[in-house]
Amino acid sequence: SKYSKEDIFRIVEEEDVEFIRLQFTDIFGMMKNVAITKNMLPKALDNRCMFDGSSIEGFIRSEESDMYLYPDLDTFEIFPWRPQQGKVARLICDVYNPDQAPFEGDPRFVLKKVLKKAHDMGFVFQAGPECEFFLFHTDEEGRPTTHTHETASYFDVAPIDQAENVRRDMVISLEEMGFMIEASHHEISPGQHEIDFQYAEGIVTADNIMTFRLAVKSIAKRHGLHATFMPKPKAGVNGSGMHINMSLSDLNGNNMFKDDEDEQGLSKTAYSFIAGILHHMKGMTILTNPLVNSYKRLVPGYDAPVYIAWSAKANRSPLIRIPSSRGSSTRIELRCPDSAVNPYLALAACLAAGLDGIEKGMTPPESVDSNVFAMPEEEILSRGIEQLPETLGEAIEAFRKDEFMKKVLGEHIFTKYLEAKEAEWHMFRAQVTDWEVEEYLYKY
Ligand code: GLU
Ligand code: MG
Ligand code: MG
Repeated sequence: SKYSKEDIFRIVEEEDVEFIRLQFTDIFGMMKNVAITKNMLPKALDNRCMFDGSSIEGFIRSEESDMYLYPDLDTFEIFPWRPQQGKVARLICDVYNPDQAPFEGDPRFVLKKVLKKAHDMGFVFQAGPECEFFLFHTDEEGRPTTHTHETASYFDVAPIDQAENVRRDMVISLEEMGFMIEASHHEISPGQHEIDFQYAEGIVTADNIMTFRLAVKSIAKRHGLHATFMPKPKAGVNGSGMHINMSLSDLNGNNMFKDDEDEQGLSKTAYSFIAGILHHMKGMTILTNPLVNSYKRLVPGYDAPVYIAWSAKANRSPLIRIPSSRGSSTRIELRCPDSAVNPYLALAACLAAGLDGIEKGMTPPESVDSNVFAMPEEEILSRGIEQLPETLGEAIEAFRKDEFMKKVLGEHIFTKYLEAKEAEWHMFRAQVTDWEVEEYLYKY
């Protein structure tokens, strides 16, 4: 590992760190933290910091509510956007029960379990996300709006792109926190942006996604803007996705998805991984697209997938795309996830599904290289191309039946997650939207 306890104590002294945030993630992907001063650090690094688990959503088990935070030393980073005297640092933690067993409701534990399984099969899982988000103005009271006075689109330049300085600050801060930023650019919709960072092993990438969201929101705020990862904040324009690039390497770091002999350059392992994801997709869509609002993004016409299909040729309509780079960067890109995910659970589900494909020797259906949206209904039917769930309600039904996902997540998270999503869906179903009133009030 990167740091020892002594290293952490030394850096804290050298860098004038005053506060340390002990962070973890609830099952819905919300970051939580408790701040300690450096005087409490010895206790924290001895895994003796406790919190009340019954107040964290999805953790709840009031009889045994004391939980312990076990800091992962390698996640130590200083927040560049906080004061630089008496600095603020963070440590990402695993959550443990008082009996020193990992807490089964800790999403990081779920991902670690699946990564261990991959490791036992001789694989290391690599993942890299493409995070899109909107920057909106706030109102006089500082509340977020959906307003932007930007008109820029894909890859536009300043002065049409008005956020170059905001993205600059984000990129610099992220790099100070150890990210390798590969690209940053304006996205298709007005006010929409994307920053891509380098892929890494599963747990690092999930941690990075959490850090990325925090950094982007914090820095936007310093510019008087609100950054949102809401999947579809505005009707009529593209929503924000979080495409996930995935590959497996062997324990020596060799890419296991490539095969120069194959027509597409893909190995049998890659094909089975794809097949596993397609096979399990409906049951896990709730994990890749967790909100009522997520399904407003997954409609035709906005560069987001609708059909469960894969392609090495088509760019923006397939669910799984094979980016053109081959050799050691051979990978698959899953295009449905959005940034409202719990990254630990989403990556755990994707990896588990892919591994299942490998274990069972699954083969994917024929690739769909033409635009499915332009395909006649009969052809879609005859080729057996299915659709992603159209609503959170449909996703809930597919998830509820899915014994495989239940095993991946464990009973605790599966049940809590299902209950919470059902409540969310029932709440939404009881709403009357502006669209309905506008459409029906006069006519009927
Ligand atoms: N914003 C699009 C989506 O919702 C993706 C655009 C792109 O291909 O980068 O998935
Ligand atoms: Mg994009
Ligand atoms: Mg992409």
